[in-house]
Formats: sequence, structure tokens, C-alpha cells
Amino acid sequence: MTSLPESPTTTKLGLVIDLDICVGCHACAVNCKEWNTGGHSAPLTDFEPYGADPTGVWFNRIHTFEATDDVGNSRTVHFPRSCLHCEDAPCVTVCPTGASYKREEDGIVLVNANTCIGCKLCSWACPYGAREYDQDEGVMKKCTLCVDKIYNENLDEESRVPACVSTCPAGARHFGDLGDPDSDVSQLVDARGGYELMPEQNCKPTNRYLPPRPRKTAVGSTGAPPSLEPQVDGGDSPFLRWVDKVLSR
Ligand code: SF4
Ligand code: SF4
Repeated sequence: MTSLPESPTTTKLGLVIDLDICVGCHACAVNCKEWNTGGHSAPLTDFEPYGADPTGVWFNRIHTFEATDDVGNSRTVHFPRSCLHCEDAPCVTVCPTGASYKREEDGIVLVNANTCIGCKLCSWACPYGAREYDQDEGVMKKCTLCVDKIYNENLDEESRVPACVSTCPAGARHFGDLGDPDSDVSQLVDARGGYELMPEQNCKPTNRYLPPRPRKTAVGSTGAPPSLEPQVDGGDSPFLRWVDKVLSR
């Protein structure tokens, strides 16, 4: 079995995903696949992509749910899912070869394909279903937080973010140091009541989700005022009499 870092730094790189803004367009999943199929974990294979039962390796998947509140209002919520780079990562501690490991310097959880034996124990241990088995290569893969992009000094500084973050057209994805309480991502989490997924699993995930904001309109409402009838209250005020006069000329 594999140990977690004994003296990690305070840096915890991760993602903040805004469930209020995500429109479920899958751009992040596609650009993730595009970058990673040629990078650190390349290639990300697909089987029968145009067949009846396509399978393949995707580090980021979007799930769409219809959620209904206590008074019957419903809304569609799009939920992007990828590795959450847990502090107490069971996928690491269960690994018999040390292939799964958590980096001391920034908390990113990675898999060394050279020592992975494809036993799949890590995918059983991960409560978030974030591991992706590559049946072509016989090794486990997963989100790397685009480790080969975020530190790549050949790229300009604003491009040094995970591929999913740089492509999201809605601005629903944010990247930064969640171990620094003053970072932009930490402040965003504080301001919006960001939460960790399934805290009862005690994995201490780094990534955070921002909840959908309350709806502004009730079910069936078009957002227009409840009535378009003329207001009678105050109809005899001097100002409204003057408006009447001007409009009837
Ligand atoms: Fe491991 Fe799953 Fe946590 Fe990622 S989300 S670090 S794969 S337990
Ligand atoms: Fe949601 Fe952005 Fe991903 Fe589109 S790219 S599915 S909006 S997170």
C-alpha cells in the first residue's frame, strides 16, 4: 500500500465549479480530452465511438439532473465530475505498487503508468468514480489537473490553467490554490458558500462546488410582472393626472 505525503506544503491546487453557471455544454470535457490525449497521460483511447455502446477514457464527465425543490419548482443542474485531488486520497493508500501518488508540493494526485498494474483497486476505493481505466493500455488514468500545462513555461501565463478552465465559455470553472485563504478561489468559495462533495467519506477533497443560486421566478412564470392591468392605487395623484393628460394629447 502507498503512503500519502508526510509533510505536504500548504499548497492545494484544485478547481472550483459553479453549478449556477454551468450550462452543460461539455466544452470542458472535450477540451480536457483534446489536451490530455496528447499529453502526460496520452493517449486517451476510445472504443466504438460511433457504435451502439461507445466506451472510452474521459477525465471529465458532465451529468445532468432535474432537481425539484420543496414547493415543486424544478430546474436542470449540470454537474461536471472529475478527480477532486483529495487530501486523504483512498485511491493512493490502497495502491499496492505506489503507482498512485499525491504530490507533496501542490497536492495533485497522479498515476505513474509505468508502475500501474491495472488491478483497479483505486477505482473501487474512489467514492467519486473519478478513475478511468484504459483497457487498451491496461493502466488506470485520471484527471492530472493538466500538470503538463499549468507549469509549462512555454505557454503565456494566462494559458497556464487546466484545459477545462481555459475552454469553459460560461466561466463556470476556476483554478487556484485552495490552501491559501486569500486566493481568488478561496474567496469565491467563502462568498458563495462553496462545499465539498460527500464530506461523510472523509477524503477531504480539494475541489469545491458552488451551489445554484435560488431561482428568481416561480414555476410557470415568464419573469413578467404578475399583472399588466393598469394600477389603480394612487390613480388620482396630481402626477398621474398630468401623465394622463400628456399621453392623451
Ligand atoms: Fe483519488 Fe477519487 Fe479523490 Fe481523485 S477523487 S483523489 S481519484 S479518491
Ligand atoms: Fe459546464 Fe463550462 Fe464544462 Fe460547459 S465547459 S459543461 S459550462 S463547466
